[in-house]
Amino acid sequence: MAKSAAKKSLQAEAVAADFAWPEERIQVANTPWLRAPWAQFLAMRQANRLPHGLLITGARGLGVMSLARQIIAYSLCRSPITAPGAEGACQVCPACRLRLAGTHPDIQQLLQSGSASSVTVDDIRALIDAFSFTRYGALRVALIEQAERMNRNAANSLLKLLEEPPEGSLFLLTTERADLLPATIRSRVQRLVVTMPSRAVMVRWLCDTQGFSEADAQMLWFMGEEQRISGELPAWDWLAVTQAWVALNAGHSGVLATVKCWQAVSRDTLARWLLRLWVDVMRVQSGLASEAPSHLAPLISQLSRQHTRVHWLKCHPILLEFLQTASHPLNDELSLERLALDLTDQSLPARLA
Ligand SMILES: [Zn+2]
Repeated sequence: MAKSAAKKSLQAEAVAADFAWPEERIQVANTPWLRAPWAQFLAMRQANRLPHGLLITGARGLGVMSLARQIIAYSLCRSPITAPGAEGACQVCPACRLRLAGTHPDIQQLLQSGSASSVTVDDIRALIDAFSFTRYGALRVALIEQAERMNRNAANSLLKLLEEPPEGSLFLLTTERADLLPATIRSRVQRLVVTMPSRAVMVRWLCDTQGFSEADAQMLWFMGEEQRISGELPAWDWLAVTQAWVALNAGHSGVLATVKCWQAVSRDTLARWLLRLWVDVMRVQSGLASEAPSHLAPLISQLSRQHTRVHWLKCHPILLEFLQTASHPLNDELSLERLALDLTDQSLPARLA
């Protein structure tokens, strides 16, 4: 019993000590796709109809957590700025100062951090414990990042809280996929949706607010969400990796030379990149324009011409399987050799049939 109580209090500490209030790389005010859900929140708040549970859904890399933190900051601030278009926390009141220092007692967070990938019933129990303490301000907030990480017991435990929320509480959940949450949870929360912006909007935003050149912004957009999250250009040589595939298909370089080049990249990164190229190759094969930035598009055209559509279609399951085994402790060289052989083998269609 004593042991379990000690364990519990440790978990409560872990929840409380888990927060650092980061500088936001993604500012809600100058991020077009965050404006609508932010306005929706403000409208609920101004009408005094803020629910106890809010669920923000949106793809990774779009600033869902930045929006969540802005909602928390605004909700806890003692004198928030309410001028239309400039709404936000004042950043100077005692509540804001505590929050910025990472010591606001009314903020509980279950963040997604590295290895601790799932949210367990113990995590939620620690949250419930924290909600039983006296509040510092008028509202206590729990932020659960990627709430689909909750296992069944955790979700059931949270559901009880949502069904009978303590007075002055706000449960803020984020998720990439709302359909992975139990329907019972979904029915207890209001949803704020962050929609994927168009390419033009995203590229403009990357240039204007993140300081990328047009070419680099186009490249980040093409690489997809994994890359956009980091807000950094890849450190590996995507051009060399792509050229190696072209050379392999053309017979200009052998399997071993290709493997040597591809070995410079992690298998997971390589798999995602080859799949991204494959998607664009299929676009070109279907008579559509390549989505690739101008310095990459010629290589896509070359790839497209190097094989028939049938051959390219057969490459897809090979690439998918390579991605699925990317984290397995296989021998790098052998696994890449097999990939290179499978992707070029002329008897491929027959073998797979
Ligand atoms: Zn304030």
